[in-house]
Amino acid sequence: MKVSDAYREANGFTPEKIADVMIGFYEKIDARCAEIERRIEREGVKLNCRPGCCGCCRDGLTMTQAEAAVIRKQFPDIGKALPHPQGACPFLDDDGLCRIYSARPYICRTHGLPMRYFLTLADALEMGMIEAIPEDHSPDQKIELRDICELNTLDVMDLPEEACWASEIAEAQLAAMDACTFGDAPRVEMRSFFEK
Ligand code: SF4
Ligand code: SF4
Repeated sequence: MKVSDAYREANGFTPEKIADVMIGFYEKIDARCAEIERRIEREGVKLNCRPGCCGCCRDGLTMTQAEAAVIRKQFPDIGKALPHPQGACPFLDDDGLCRIYSARPYICRTHGLPMRYFLTLADALEMGMIEAIPEDHSPDQKIELRDICELNTLDVMDLPEEACWASEIAEAQLAAMDACTFGDAPRVEMRSFFEK
């Protein structure tokens, strides 16, 4: 992505300022997540997500460079601590709590919500999710998929659209912020914070 230095400076897309931009981005994500949770409750359902429930805190997760900048800013000494053993996120403590909770990446903020995904029929075919593209359909036609953590036992297909999280826009924003700020630098592995 090619943008001018003036644009990057004006929008905080520099390695020095990106953490503050991201904190503002997270505030909007958190507000939207809370809105969705309230909407789900209006359907008579409550999510099981709670402190200490950490099955979603898997090992091997990655984040953008900008997300990593927030952790480095808010928890500059986290790398000096011992990582959680292999098999779960290295940021977990012994009680199943997140040690960087206020700086956790985007994916962790939406854990547990009903998710909506959109996939083209061509991609669905390539991934083996369908056997063939119906003759009267274009390969570019999108289909909607839904998913939720198996511990949140509700039928996601029954929920109205506004009670589900669609991640396309937020993920595009994250990718654009990283491209503007860090070019094509690779994603950051969570465990890499501890590998010194
Ligand atoms: S960063 Fe925190 S919330 Fe995210 S997976 Fe790791 S322990 Fe869980
Ligand atoms: S997403 Fe699942 S594993 Fe994670 S906190 Fe919610 S219920 Fe627990």
